Amino acid sequence: MVQNWRPIEYKFILLGDSSVGKSSIFKRLLGNSFSKNQISTLGTEKAILNFDDLEIDKNTRQNFKIVLFDTAGQERYRAITKSYFKDSKGIILIYSIDDETSFKHIETWLDSIKESLSDWKRSGYIIMLLGNKLDIAEEDPETRMIMTEEGENICSEKGIYWGGECSAKTFDESQLKEILAKFIKQVYNKLGEEKKDNEKKNQQIVLISNKLNDKKRVKCCTPK
Ligand code: GDP
Ligand code: MG
Repeated sequence: MVQNWRPIEYKFILLGDSSVGKSSIFKRLLGNSFSKNQISTLGTEKAILNFDDLEIDKNTRQNFKIVLFDTAGQERYRAITKSYFKDSKGIILIYSIDDETSFKHIETWLDSIKESLSDWKRSGYIIMLLGNKLDIAEEDPETRMIMTEEGENICSEKGIYWGGECSAKTFDESQLKEILAKFIKQVYNKLGEEKKDNEKKNQQIVLISNKLNDKKRVKCCTPK
């Protein structure tokens, strides 16, 4: 069993159309109660969430420190700045299952993310999609505009992680944290794979340069 107690720190950001429930999810994750009249704050809100002793696999446990950012009043696609994305390892993209437009805009958000991240893509990041306001659809199925499968499908089509459907109203802190914990594992595994890939590439470069040196040596030292 590998137990690493020094936390790994990741920056995560919440994105999505205005009113899909980003701030409500943010507040719930901090243990606050749900509020019908969520006041939109100006500027960016930041919170630190600790996930201790997360089981990565049977043999590995790890502590994580998540620095979570909530966008406030910057929800227009082009208004989000590169600095907001900078260094983020996880992007939590949210739509509301009773709001078709917010789902249609997922593609626009993805384009906008790609645009903003193009020059520092190498830093590595992963996106999770969440459908919020599940309680409304449970209460009255007629209000559901987006089927669960549509959420799943866009994820496999775009190669992003499906976090499922949730409700900032009826899910408690631990249920929302469970969704986040799964995402943290995804991020950790992806970054781990990238690290391994880079190590492999570096090894190959060393091997190639060794071979070149060998050739040179052979050339220089072979008696004519
Ligand atoms: P944001 O603009 O994406 O940050 O959305 P807010 O968190 O400010 O929420 C917008 C409105 O939707 C508020 O009136 C919230 O009370 C409401 N809301 C957010 N999440 C849920 C949810 O899961 N269920 C229900 N019924 N209402 C929600
Ligand atoms: Mg908000």
